[in-house]
Amino acid sequence: MKVDDPDLIKELVAHNVKFSATAQNGAGQYLYLVWLIPMIIFLIMMTKARRGATGAGLMSIGKSRANLYIDKDTGVTFDDVAGVDEAKEELKEVIDYLQNPQKYQRLGGKIPKGVLLVGPTGTGKTLLAKAVAGEAKVPFFSISGSGFVEMFVGVGAARVRDLFAQAQEKAPCIIFIDEIDALGKVRAAAPISGGHEERENTLNQLLVEMDGFDTRKGVILLAATNRPETLDTALLRPGRFDRHVLVDRPDIKGREDILKVHCKNVKLGKDVDIKIIAARTPGFVGADLANVVNEAALLAARVGKDAVGMDSLEEAINRVVAGLEKKKKVMSKKEQEIIAYHESGHALVAESVPGADKVHRVSIIPRGISALGYTLQLPTEDRYLLTRSELLDRLAVFLGGRVAEEIIFNEVSTGAQNDLERATDIAMSMVREYGMSEKLGPMTFQNGRKPLFVELGYRSGREVSDEVSKDIDNEVKKIIFDTHTRVKNILLEKKDRLQTLAKLLMEKEVIEGVELRKIISGNIPGSIKE
Ligand code: ADP
Ligand code: ZN
Repeated sequence: MKVDDPDLIKELVAHNVKFSATAQNGAGQYLYLVWLIPMIIFLIMMTKARRGATGAGLMSIGKSRANLYIDKDTGVTFDDVAGVDEAKEELKEVIDYLQNPQKYQRLGGKIPKGVLLVGPTGTGKTLLAKAVAGEAKVPFFSISGSGFVEMFVGVGAARVRDLFAQAQEKAPCIIFIDEIDALGKVRAAAPISGGHEERENTLNQLLVEMDGFDTRKGVILLAATNRPETLDTALLRPGRFDRHVLVDRPDIKGREDILKVHCKNVKLGKDVDIKIIAARTPGFVGADLANVVNEAALLAARVGKDAVGMDSLEEAINRVVAGLEKKKKVMSKKEQEIIAYHESGHALVAESVPGADKVHRVSIIPRGISALGYTLQLPTEDRYLLTRSELLDRLAVFLGGRVAEEIIFNEVSTGAQNDLERATDIAMSMVREYGMSEKLGPMTFQNGRKPLFVELGYRSGREVSDEVSKDIDNEVKKIIFDTHTRVKNILLEKKDRLQTLAKLLMEKEVIEGVELRKIISGNIPGSIKE
């Protein structure tokens, strides 16, 4: 075929398609173009990638997009992935399926088809998928969801068919779909634009293939997303991606382990203390840490050092932080402190009131994508009924975060917005639905604040007079204010423990329930009585 369209070449290069060309009569002058243009584009891409690497840790640059990528042996093992022990544990099962499919099918069980890896970018989802293939010693097929969006009509679906056909031939194997959200966005929510229809076709083809293929042959799909909430539910149904594995940001210990992995092939100076580097990098994901080590090695080499010292690592951290700050992904020291007190407030109140669920874990590591820190409470038993005092205790826990901020900083932040919403919800339900207000008595007022709540899906019920509506507001207010005072008293009385807890949390980032209770019940006698 005669190649005389430079755009075609650009397309091919942009998608990393391998191609070659031969000169035909008269096409001689094009031959050098065929090689020159890709060379120039390649150079531009390399410079960009380098620039990205100094700044923001753009590990994904240069990753192949929609094109299929096959690796007969990834060579990656679980030792290469650190700080995500829970995810590894869950994926071990997948390895076992791939290695011993008969063992599981013997009793008629069905091997899972799809596992969805959920977590922020750069936490090692792709690496984990490769490690699963590497550990099971099976080929690794990978493809990225985002590349499909730009494809011509029919190409996406054909690619998917092709992918599955090839994978079945090479089974047992892993198929990895990166950024599956680009492909599997909720259909209705997608904007009407070009590429939309094609994405839907591709998604449908994927569903067809998933339903059609036989796990007995040993093909397991892994997919990654950092936006699980946007996924089309069709993808999550049983028999599709029905297993979800959280690949979260690493805690301080996890960061230390990841740094160790990446320092393996770097010549470190004697003064290097990896623990300190881990402590200096809260919020960093694996990709950021890999970037720090690499950047430090380059910095040290540039000035002619013969080992990577602490100074180079520190400077590398600053550079990576600067890049991340631009993207608003790092917490400042002050923010971290506020969050530590906020979460300690929740935890301390939860452990001080009788009717709240026990605290399982307190953390200031941003969980998932949006929340800042979190206090995880686990119910000790399943509950269907809650008493008035139990509801008040729960409300108290929600207010604990904000009150701690008030007490310590004399100021409040926006971090408590969701807590306040939930606290208000509880108070509102107590008054309007459960008849728990003394003043209004055992009556329900579903339609308390019509104009605002009708839209939010509240049932429209009996009309409520303006006067009652005012009473409802006042009662809700009273419940919140009383609880606020109560929480303030609890936390003021235990201020020393609040401080101990927050400081420890800043240092360790995560405190488990058992340890938390030790601290709370520690040296300081006296507990809150109701
Ligand atoms: P994701 O797929 O979650 O966006 P990747 O797997 O592409 O993240 O991570 C990019 C790179 O960052 C990896 O190739 C690896 O060098 C480094 N990395 C990320 N997470 C980890 C981890 N948990 N352990 C070791 N290295 C990691
Ligand atoms: Zn909170």
